[in-house]
Amino acid sequence: MAEKKLQNQVAIITGASSGIGTGAANALAAAGATVVVNHPVAATKDAAEMVLAAIKAAGGEGITFQCDVSREEEVEKMFAETIARFGTIDILVNNAGLQRDAAFEEMTLEQWNTVLSVNLTGQFLCARAAVREFLRRGVVPQKSKAAGKIICMSSVHEVIPWAGHANYAASKGGIMLMMKSIAQEFAPKKIRINSIAPGAIKTPINHDAWATAQAEEKLLQLIPYQRVGVVEDIAAAVVWLASDDSDYVNGTTLFVDGGMTLYPGFSENG
Ligand code: NAD
Repeated sequence: MAEKKLQNQVAIITGASSGIGTGAANALAAAGATVVVNHPVAATKDAAEMVLAAIKAAGGEGITFQCDVSREEEVEKMFAETIARFGTIDILVNNAGLQRDAAFEEMTLEQWNTVLSVNLTGQFLCARAAVREFLRRGVVPQKSKAAGKIICMSSVHEVIPWAGHANYAASKGGIMLMMKSIAQEFAPKKIRINSIAPGAIKTPINHDAWATAQAEEKLLQLIPYQRVGVVEDIAAAVVWLASDDSDYVNGTTLFVDGGMTLYPGFSENG
């Protein structure tokens, strides 16, 4: 059997008990990585265990780990215990995210802070812990040309403004420049950091946008490729960005959006 691309590498995937995180964990495990299926609270443990059981049934390996990515001490513990158990980590998929939508004039500070602290501060805390480990270990040529890879789950809303979702769009715009700044900072150390900007992908986060035929039809008006995305579309991009196939790709956002960022409103000349 051919050597798997991510053999002997360890990946932490945040928010992996549902949606895109689950898809990424499945695909990374299928590519040979040992996966840490992160989930935030006791209530998400069963879902995370089911994800891990399916990965193991398919021949993969990993553990689940409860950690709220917005809490520094929990993030530090997740990284320390993963490194103690598996020796190191090679890949971080900074995927956990949420929405607390509100008209701007009604948005509470709590709604603002909740989104920023999970979507942006959570990515900072996990990326910092990963970078520290990558710097400590350096490149192991038998495993990868890079000392480590970070994939930040952004959104088309890192560039598309989104009325009624100012907190979410601000968090994703923030991810874009955090990602680029740290990619610039650590490129000489052979650490690669990139983002994926999904368009509309069928997951629990946007259930109402595709759950009925009527809603899906409305959504398709925003997607030139005329199909709503699925988690496998994003998972394939995650594996590529985690592997040496993308070794010269650093500090960029890969839009996986069926053309949503092509200004479809202008397709008939505005
Ligand atoms: P989802 O709701 O299924 O997944 C989000 C995951 O994050 C959940 O598993 C949730 O438990 C976890 N999470 C929330 N708060 C957390 C915390 N404090 N600590 C750890 N985990 C936490 O939705 P999804 O669509 O799979 O979202 C995954 C990522 O993709 C998010 O960052 C989201 O913004 C991004 N995204 C999704 C879409 C889409 O169309 N689905 C589009 C663009 C970007």
